[in-house]
Amino acid sequence: MNFLSPYVIIDGAMNGIITGSLIMFGLMFVSSLFLGRAWCGWLCPGGGMQEIVEPVNRRPVNGRKIDWIKRVIWIPWISLIVWMVMQAGGYSSINILHLTDSGISVDGPFKYITYYLVVGLFVGLAMFAGRRAGYHTICWMAPFMMIGRWIRNRFGWASLRLTADASACTNCKLCTKNCPMSLDVNGMVQIEQMENAECILCGTCVDNCHKGLIKYSFSPSQ
Ligand code: SF4
Ligand code: SF4
Repeated sequence: MNFLSPYVIIDGAMNGIITGSLIMFGLMFVSSLFLGRAWCGWLCPGGGMQEIVEPVNRRPVNGRKIDWIKRVIWIPWISLIVWMVMQAGGYSSINILHLTDSGISVDGPFKYITYYLVVGLFVGLAMFAGRRAGYHTICWMAPFMMIGRWIRNRFGWASLRLTADASACTNCKLCTKNCPMSLDVNGMVQIEQMENAECILCGTCVDNCHKGLIKYSFSPSQ
């Protein structure tokens, strides 16, 4: 939990300490330069929690209406961190276990309160607002990868992405129906443009296309 914490990085910034969470966010950014948001689709514990509760509420969310929320949260948060580091005179030490002295994030009764608050936030949003609503609204990690992906697209170097061939598409829309991020995958296939900042490269559309028209590819941007 602490390695993905939005607070530990702030505490570190105040004291000029490079923390485990700062390193994790940095690694996410670097990975996104070559793997897009594969972290979100394959490794993120928040994504796993939301996937578990998907049978409770499979309603798609309207990303166009709510995707802005996480950006509005992220900008003041990252600005605060930068300001605190400047106030502290820059980073002067590294402590990967900052605020995690025992090596375990949840090592006392009170830590469970924070733990269940975080779990409740992601699970609650997915249960009440719809599929992966936590990714659309509150995820403080997604913007690091969205920026990395944007940079990758500007330079166009080879990276993990989706490709599609619209020629044999039957318009069954199974790809759209099953996309956990509620994207218009069928629409993306029709124009053979699979790049979308909210795509987490989970591969659900790849699995669901009975014609095999959507594929993973490690290639430069088209
Ligand atoms: S477009 Fe495909 S890979 Fe991307 S989030 Fe949707 S189902 Fe997953
Ligand atoms: S699942 Fe395949 S065939 Fe069906 S709409 Fe999507 S791309 Fe077309």
